[in-house]
Amino acid sequence: MGRDPFVVVIARLRRSPGLTSHEVRQGTVALAGPLDLAGIDPGRSVVPEGAEAVCDVTLQAFRGGIDVAGTVTAPWVGICRRCTAGVSGQLRVAVHERFGDGPAASDEMYPAQDDAIDLGLLVRDAIVLELPMAPLCREDCAGLCPQCGADRNDGECGCVAPADPRWANLDVLR
Ligand SMILES: [Zn+2]
Ligand SMILES: [Zn+2]
Repeated sequence: MGRDPFVVVIARLRRSPGLTSHEVRQGTVALAGPLDLAGIDPGRSVVPEGAEAVCDVTLQAFRGGIDVAGTVTAPWVGICRRCTAGVSGQLRVAVHERFGDGPAASDEMYPAQDDAIDLGLLVRDAIVLELPMAPLCREDCAGLCPQCGADRNDGECGCVAPADPRWANLDVLR
């Protein structure tokens, strides 16, 4: 196993509170759940397997920890929630977090070691929170016809709705 690209040595910053350090780190991120389109449902998105996230941040030491501010970017792929076409994009998340010492760090801060912090924790959380929950191939995607399954983005399929009594009942409920 190689060195983790998201682990930043902070010994020098620790010795000089107020000093800042600009870090750009890039690497793959371990996320829970599927990392590619196989195995995800329409309306979901993932970071593709093996794709790299970039963490571009400024670090600054304070008493008891390190302040981290900047951006996290990562590619994502998903399946349009209306027509099931493949969709892709780029996440860009503004982050501002703290890494702190000791057990008090647990709730509001990520844990810092004496001489290093793991930006991978922050990168993973930023991505998980910002992955599109219900992606669309385009804002006005017409979706699939519920009756014949045709992609209505390609034109009208000719179905006359609601021909099926089940659909009529749904209309009454509305
Ligand atoms: Zn669509
Ligand atoms: Zn149809």
